Amino acid sequence: MTTKNQPLSGNEMPRFGGIATMMRLPAATSPRGLDAAFIGIPFDAGTSHRSGTRFGPRQIRAESALLRPYNMATGAAPFDSLQVADLGDVAINTYSIARSMDIVSAFYADVFTAGCRPLTLGGDHTIALPILRAAARHHGPLALVHVDAHADVNDTMFGETLAHGTPFRRAVEEGLLQGTKVFQIGLRGTGYAADDFDWPRSQGFTIIPAHEIWYRSLEPLMQRVRDVIGDTPCYLSFDIDGIDPAFAGGTGTPEVGGLSVPQALEVVRGCRGLNLIGTDLVEVCPSYDPGGNTALLGANLLYEMLCVLPGVVHR
Ligand code: MN
Ligand code: MN
Repeated sequence: MTTKNQPLSGNEMPRFGGIATMMRLPAATSPRGLDAAFIGIPFDAGTSHRSGTRFGPRQIRAESALLRPYNMATGAAPFDSLQVADLGDVAINTYSIARSMDIVSAFYADVFTAGCRPLTLGGDHTIALPILRAAARHHGPLALVHVDAHADVNDTMFGETLAHGTPFRRAVEEGLLQGTKVFQIGLRGTGYAADDFDWPRSQGFTIIPAHEIWYRSLEPLMQRVRDVIGDTPCYLSFDIDGIDPAFAGGTGTPEVGGLSVPQALEVVRGCRGLNLIGTDLVEVCPSYDPGGNTALLGANLLYEMLCVLPGVVHR
């Protein structure tokens, strides 16, 4: 009998009842004493096209009500292993991207100081930058596994340095990443210029375009990722638009020809063994997700991320 927090069972309260925390976990107000926490960032001021990811955290929590504690595919038993809770949402300033960055960094500094690993529900991809700032301050320059249709390394967008297509350019400039330990998986779509991917490659990034991994298992790729990254503190940033819009169309900047859902699961499950210090799942946009499939997939991927955190027992 464990004394750790458990998701509220569907046999105690109907799944469609109760307050919608992530996986029906207890809500917490402090990261102290937690090994991992789900945190929402209802921020979409950095979005370049379809807006609405501010409603992502709430919808992911709603769809997470169907998730049960044990991972029947991998054997992971996260709630027997870790103390986990839902820390609620970060109170971003929806009128100011710059102020929101500082608010998020301060929130996550507290989380990392407490020894808690954050699993973030986005929000648009801009939020990866302030999380990486807080993470690198605590852990030093990080390795990064980044799943996305887009490289998100633009210098500016509409003349602005902070937007959902710029976080990893800023992260490199600020020394938050170890360039040779960065993997960008699933990139595709049309480019601003023919040399769009030259800059990240010049920083040492490994780029895996979607068309190079069509129809393939990603287990060999993830073996390579683990070999290169080793035990370097690593962040996993997962933009749901890395997955094909046939499966995850509820997002702001969809691109055809993306990852399948099994490939996405292989990537996340393949992160087991990495020293993951935090993860995010961003760009779920409920207003373009009428059936809830994208949010449901996002909820499942966040659960899979929890399952591969260091210290999770597999049965
Ligand atoms: Mn992105
Ligand atoms: Mn993207």
